[in-house]
Amino acid sequence: MRKKIVAGNWKMNTTLTKGLELVDELLQTSTNDSILKIIAPPFIHLASVADKLNGKEGFELAAQNCHQSANGAFTGEVSAEMIVSVGAKYVIIGHSERRIYFGETNATLYQKVVTALANNLVPIFCVGESADDRSANVHLETVKQQLKEGLFNLQLDDFSKVIIAYEPVWAIGTGATATTHQAQGMHNFIRSEINKKYGKDISENTSILYGGSVNAENAKELFACLDVDGGLIGGASLKAAEFASIINSF
Ligand code: PEP
Repeated sequence: MRKKIVAGNWKMNTTLTKGLELVDELLQTSTNDSILKIIAPPFIHLASVADKLNGKEGFELAAQNCHQSANGAFTGEVSAEMIVSVGAKYVIIGHSERRIYFGETNATLYQKVVTALANNLVPIFCVGESADDRSANVHLETVKQQLKEGLFNLQLDDFSKVIIAYEPVWAIGTGATATTHQAQGMHNFIRSEINKKYGKDISENTSILYGGSVNAENAKELFACLDVDGGLIGGASLKAAEFASIINSF
């Protein structure tokens, strides 16, 4: 059975003190033990948040990115091995902000996925179309290409560890959430592409999260969609009460 997951991506927000307060509040208010909760703070806060989460059932830690090389002369970058060494088990790869602002291509992202997996770090691989793609009706083709180039060269064993997040770029931070029809349609399409490539068992067991302006009001109906296995939450994950309410809406 595939895992139900709610992950919070803090992006480049919070100070260490505020981040640790946020975790404290979250630990007190998120009562849903049946799902996996993942927190993705900035790199510099990972070790401290790991200390706070230590031994807390159902909570795990993710980085927001990793470098594709194992180590070396890449000033300012952070490796998969470093991330694991401070207690994180997950890493977000291919967030649209990385693709748009840092020029990360599907080919680079595939290398990051390979490096993460080689270090036992589970990738949360983001896909999603732009507003222009959707109005030109090429959204399925865009996501298909991201899956093909970013993930589908993995061997089955490796692919089976990956979590996918569908995040339409037009819905991120805009308040324009995908409708349940749009979300379910794309999640079902992604699952069918996985089925074609890796077979039914793997496709049925891959967790596919929805991300894009999820909040306490719309989480329940999105999570009720057959092929939506949870959410990747940006802005709302910075407010403990709202994030807890999203977690508790499963
Ligand atoms: C995100 O950045 O992954 C995201 C989904 O952001 P928001 O929830 O703020 O739209």
